[in-house]
Amino acid sequence: MAAEPSSFSIKPGESTESTAFRSALDVIRAVEPRVADAIGAEVEDQRAQLKLIASENYASPAVLLTMGNWFSDKYAEGTIGRRFYAGCRNVDTVEALAAEHARELFGASHAYVQPHSGIDANLVAFWSVLAQRVESPALERAKVRHVNDLSEQDWAALRRELGDQRMLGMALDAGGHLTHGFRPNISGKMFDQRSYGTDPETGLLDYDALRETAREFRPLILVAGYSAYPRLVNFRIMREIAEEVGATLMVDMAHFAGLVAGKVLTGDFDPVPHANIVTTTTHKSLRGPRGGMVLCDAELAEHVDRGCPMVLGGPLPHVMAAKAVALAEARRPDFQDYARRIVDNASALAEGLLRRGASLVTGGTDNHLVLADVSGYGLTGRQAEAALLDAGIVTNRNSVPQDRNGAWYTSGVRIGTPALTTRGLGVAEMDEIAGLIDTVLTSTRPGTTANGTPSKASHVIDASVADQVAARSADLLAGFPLYPGVDLSQG
Ligand SMILES: *Cc1c(COP(=O)(O)O)cnc(C)c1O
Repeated sequence: MAAEPSSFSIKPGESTESTAFRSALDVIRAVEPRVADAIGAEVEDQRAQLKLIASENYASPAVLLTMGNWFSDKYAEGTIGRRFYAGCRNVDTVEALAAEHARELFGASHAYVQPHSGIDANLVAFWSVLAQRVESPALERAKVRHVNDLSEQDWAALRRELGDQRMLGMALDAGGHLTHGFRPNISGKMFDQRSYGTDPETGLLDYDALRETAREFRPLILVAGYSAYPRLVNFRIMREIAEEVGATLMVDMAHFAGLVAGKVLTGDFDPVPHANIVTTTTHKSLRGPRGGMVLCDAELAEHVDRGCPMVLGGPLPHVMAAKAVALAEARRPDFQDYARRIVDNASALAEGLLRRGASLVTGGTDNHLVLADVSGYGLTGRQAEAALLDAGIVTNRNSVPQDRNGAWYTSGVRIGTPALTTRGLGVAEMDEIAGLIDTVLTSTRPGTTANGTPSKASHVIDASVADQVAARSADLLAGFPLYPGVDLSQG
């Protein structure tokens, strides 16, 4: 099968990318050769792995190179026109470009491109909604425009007033994210949280139950979005529910931003026209640098723009520059083709698994990920994840709804297609990969603990199967070179 080159790459054979990366490694090697070696080893590992981690991708050489330069040296707290540091002219240029590309790409009225990660973007969003919405006698008494300007005494009052706010988010075992009000994250401590889940029969989001919970609980923030839900979310219904109960609708599209950018998710399934505030990462399906971003309507913009220094450390201008490059890439027509292929590939993977008898949460997928329930193979998610890794297939374990193995061992494996789609693999390869996954899981059984009982952690895999699958994965990947324009071997 002919390799479809990664859509972002300069034509294979052109030496520009090889020269850039090889020179960079030479410069690094002169100071600390072990770091240069680790960088080289990392790209080799990435080339050798069948990467099915739903939250990972491969950024383009242009995005990667944009992060290694003098912008890294610049402090730029505040935002354009309101900096706490002098000399930010060029940072202003790239921050404005990234924001402009984001607004145009997503049709948003405002974009804030400083968050360092998805979690940080969510913190900015939570704080902005609190600052906008919470009726605070402390704020009024102080007669200040913004919480940043409060006295210590009023801060103490405000802390008490903020303490009682409610957040309604998707349950973790239904695919929600830790930052949507769960204990390991500050959102679970800042907010009185309740969660909504999926229908136990179908595994689909239960909007009626959600509406009922919202009516009773009356959250300040209704959070939509997920990390492990394989279906579409209807954001028009979400907005209706939010409005009915007086909640701000926040959509965390960290996982599926690439599908929104690529116009696969439109109408009711595009969060931007429906949400009051949208947060995202830039490195998952959107295929940019590691980072976060907030999109919002005009009323929230003033609060969102105060994210740094309110809850964020100094902006990373080199990463904002890389966001501008990645967003420019995502505005090109071929990105829409990429997004479409991500979803086609996930469907093919799901069909291939189902045909071989695997059990999938919700019975399939409409987006970029598949959640396989591996209990039918007699395995925990942890065992399945480890066995697949033995065979060179990288996935991650994940809870399934009402998971009997808890959040650590789990009963599921999450499998996503954004990365391999970037590499150029298509539906035929996805079907074959489904076969490899099924072969591995069929050839694996639980290990035993020291006292002879079946383990939830260790596994035993037929070594010859692991080797065969690893060899077949390597053959498959050889037809789809990663970074075909980057050859580090010659000097
Ligand atoms: C990945 C993810 C995040 C966190 O992103 P980081 O960049 O790792 O901080 C937040 N929300 C959702 C829904 C995610 O999937």
